[in-house]
Amino acid sequence: MPRLCVIYNPVAGEGKTQRVLTRFLEFLSQKYQPHEITLQTTEGKNHATVLAERAYTQGHREFVCIGGDGTFNEMCQPLVGRKNIRVSLVPSGTGNDLAIGLGFSHTFHPKEWENFFRDESVAIDVGQCNERYFFNTMGIGFDALVASEFRVWKWVPRKWRYYPPIFKNLLFYHGYDIILDKTPQKIFLLSIGNGKSSGGGIALTPSAIITDGLLDLCWIENVGIPKRIKNLFLTLKGRHTTLPFVHETRFSTLTLSSSQPCVTHIDGEIFYLNTWHVSLQPSSLLMYINQERATLIGGSL
Ligand SMILES: [Mg+2]
Repeated sequence: MPRLCVIYNPVAGEGKTQRVLTRFLEFLSQKYQPHEITLQTTEGKNHATVLAERAYTQGHREFVCIGGDGTFNEMCQPLVGRKNIRVSLVPSGTGNDLAIGLGFSHTFHPKEWENFFRDESVAIDVGQCNERYFFNTMGIGFDALVASEFRVWKWVPRKWRYYPPIFKNLLFYHGYDIILDKTPQKIFLLSIGNGKSSGGGIALTPSAIITDGLLDLCWIENVGIPKRIKNLFLTLKGRHTTLPFVHETRFSTLTLSSSQPCVTHIDGEIFYLNTWHVSLQPSSLLMYINQERATLIGGSL
């Protein structure tokens, strides 16, 4: 029986995954024989979920994802809460916010993985929105709109690609009416973080800790265009939380509703929802992390 299941997404990070895969397999060869590794390649949306479920049924208990935070989300859907599982994420996506929060660089560096063979790991919390688990962040409103439109701007260089949808929606997005904690609110955005940031370092929940048993909530009132523009750069730097129209709290369960379907992202994947049952499964996924540099585990910030 192969000991390790590697699930990799060949189109993550606009094609850099193949290089990362080669280097990671080289790294694994220190400890594993080729026949001890099962390599699975994703072929489309949600395929990582199917592959992980099948591998689990076949007896695999150690899983490595080579891809972005989105592939990791798909791979882990059938693994949360199952016994004797360990997962790892080798970052090769575009944002890699979760991987970076867990102490890794944007790509594979063997030094960050030197404790991998010692079975070092941490039990991380997992968020849940309706039927879907999330490991990093989810959001309703502005940030979800930006995530949904990001891929349209393919001709813009990657590091600038978030800016066109950001400016378009700063000017033209009307906000959403949401019932939050039984109170109607008009929101500009609402972000829920198991991790601190998404979208390549935009820290909407900058105080989130992935092992504290709580989810961080940040929501911003639907302020006018001048205030949106004035405070954009504070928000991009994670320094928005002291503004008077920004609200923060922590929770373990929360129900939200709206009379209209609202653009929602769950770990970057887009959904149109009007009811959100959000909860936390504490310490429910054992994960290899680079403890020395992880900013998402307790005690750091
Ligand atoms: Mg937390």
